Amino acid sequence: MNLVIAVDGPTASGKGTIARGLAAHYGLSHLDTGLLYRAVGRQVALTGGDPDDPLDAERATAFPAILLDDPFLRDEAVGALASRVSVHKGVRAALLQRQRDFARQPGGAVLDGRDIGTVVAPDATVKLFVTASVEARAARRHAEMLRRGQDIPLETIRADLAARDARDRGRAEAPLVEAVDAILLDNSDLDARQSLAEAIRLVDAALARHGVRPD
Ligand code: C5P
Repeated sequence: MNLVIAVDGPTASGKGTIARGLAAHYGLSHLDTGLLYRAVGRQVALTGGDPDDPLDAERATAFPAILLDDPFLRDEAVGALASRVSVHKGVRAALLQRQRDFARQPGGAVLDGRDIGTVVAPDATVKLFVTASVEARAARRHAEMLRRGQDIPLETIRADLAARDARDRGRAEAPLVEAVDAILLDNSDLDARQSLAEAIRLVDAALARHGVRPD
């Protein structure tokens, strides 16, 4: 059986770290799908397009592969652009097949994003929905930005996260929402190591329920 783990959740919930850790633990390939949307947002900016214009945004889905290595992709500003381009139906459609192909690869995969359990891989073996309070997420993002030499006021980060949450949850196309069969992991009071340990415990329990034995 091809083990596919879907990890969804809001910005700065730690889902990326958990997804990478799960992939290493179970020996699976990992795709951070947010990077694809970030690359589209960055490409729109680089080509002088308007992220709110559906055609400009859709055109940017043909971004050069090398853009995925761009260090700027992790910037807050690019995250905000990604959130704006990701509302367009054409953008989501253009990125869907690529994500589905990744999920179906032999050997299994872990994908993290917003709509993995609901749209990209609705048949995933296990679905986790990772979340944390907006305060906890803002504090983490603030510390991460400081490590990268960017001193952005905590309140600015908090407001940006809340706006991004609202946009991701409120959009018509593939909104951020818990799949009905997703397992909730609230890690507001856990550090990164504890979150991963809890995620592994939840996945192991789900696999046992499904009668699947990870290698
Ligand atoms: O996860 P990350 O912060 O890198 O994602 C950036 C933005 O890309 C999100 O705010 C969201 O709007 C969009 N996204 C999405 N669907 C995904 C992954 C990311 O709409 N599967």
